[in-house]
Amino acid sequence: MKAEHYVGGVLRSDGPAFPLVSPVDGTELGTVPEATREVVDDAVTAARAALTGTWGAPGGEPERAAALRRVADGIDARFAEFVDAEVADTGRPREFAETVDVPRAAGNFRAYADLLYGRPERSYTTPVPGWSVGTGQALNYTVRRPLGVVAVVSPWNLPLLLSTWKIAPALACGNAVVHKPSEETPSTATLLAHVIADAGLPDGVFNVVHGHGAGAAGEFLTGHQGVDAIAFTGESATGAAIMRNAADHVTPVSFELGGKNPALVFADADLDAAVDGTVRSCFTHSGQICLCTERVYVERPVFEEFVARLAGRARALDGYGPMISAEHRDKVLSYYALAREEGATVVAGGGVPEFGDARDGGFHVEPTVLTGLPETARAVREEIFGPVCHVAPFDTEDEALRLANDSPYGLAATVWTQNLSRAHRVAPRVETGIVWVNCWNLRDLRTPFGGVKASGIGREGGEYSLDFFSEPVNVCVQI
Ligand code: NAD
Repeated sequence: MKAEHYVGGVLRSDGPAFPLVSPVDGTELGTVPEATREVVDDAVTAARAALTGTWGAPGGEPERAAALRRVADGIDARFAEFVDAEVADTGRPREFAETVDVPRAAGNFRAYADLLYGRPERSYTTPVPGWSVGTGQALNYTVRRPLGVVAVVSPWNLPLLLSTWKIAPALACGNAVVHKPSEETPSTATLLAHVIADAGLPDGVFNVVHGHGAGAAGEFLTGHQGVDAIAFTGESATGAAIMRNAADHVTPVSFELGGKNPALVFADADLDAAVDGTVRSCFTHSGQICLCTERVYVERPVFEEFVARLAGRARALDGYGPMISAEHRDKVLSYYALAREEGATVVAGGGVPEFGDARDGGFHVEPTVLTGLPETARAVREEIFGPVCHVAPFDTEDEALRLANDSPYGLAATVWTQNLSRAHRVAPRVETGIVWVNCWNLRDLRTPFGGVKASGIGREGGEYSLDFFSEPVNVCVQI
């Protein structure tokens, strides 16, 4: 898939080109056009113009729901192309793209089509008849209207899944979207533009601009006066930069940011399930999922056994996929080196695998299990975003909670216990937006998704997204 901008219903490739590199073997896959300020201006102007049409008009939910379903069907119809594009850009295992990325992208559009059509009363009117302060009798009702032009800026780790998680509800609410995908993973965004064009959405309702973030397309877009809201997923430091940039225009933001997610394994856990679940939560997509575990706290009686089993499983992993880029591989390896300097015992991994084939030109690192670090170590406090965890023992429930909560981040946690009371006692006290008990990454798309502290602002999912992407307007009629 050739990466192109999509602006006002037209594909274009202006701007200087930069190379797209395969993370699997380091070969060049093609080039990507870097959107200049003019391209971004054009996209925002096209989005603004689309808002004067019927797209976001009240009563348009059935048409928008139908359009979202056509987009979902279009993704299904080009399933293999989406899989190929996502696998090429990210190097992820094919099965992952086939079972997670692409089905979930179509599912995101269907979920918001269902929500939109199924609940018009929430989207449009909530009448409150009766007494009003100072004016006697009144009928109050609330209409929700679109925000306007929404900038969607997304990362490379789950490119299609995470961008459609924002694009679908933004469109459902009647907004026009300008999407800037990650510079590392432009292909499925371009393919989505083709699908959206074929689905017959009005020109300008959906636009794509490619390019880098700081000092480039991402910054031009998020600081643009014509943007009414920003939905961003990425690093916490980038979120802070976007917030500073957006402050001049007081642009509302929805942020899904980084994490340093804890797992709490109690001695009463089903240890087989806890080991299985922790292997998945630490090493799926080589740890490059925001929800992945990087800190594991294990109750002392089962600590040694748990570490031995987790390390054994980490050593046996195969086909887990590369880091997204040479730069990110170097960052992860720098944390492996730092952990050693800080006194870690490397129980598994810690280096670069050798395959003896073309993959040696790619950006692979070994799944790694560390122990022995103090909680103050940078490798325990900072997000690494690779296939690595640090495992430490604890003695009491309160200590486990103190360790889990002693973090600048607060995205997701897992709790492994067979004690029902403990599960319900511990889960609400973990300072994260999501707590999984005896599972990981089990998702119902209607539930609130997001983080606390440096892990984000706001919640996505179901009604939570519809709330962010629309503005409640109170209408008060004296009667
Ligand atoms: P990143 O912050 O480097 O980049 C994300 C996007 O922001 C890219 O499109 C990039 O071009 C753009 N960008 C970068 N600097 C910018 C700037 N100054 N202004 C505007 N745009 C800018 O993140 P990444 O490396 O692509 O993704 C990994 C990070 O994303 C990790 O921290 C991970 O935890 C986080 N993440 C969070 C969630 C979540 O739901 N909380 C989900 C996935 C990933």
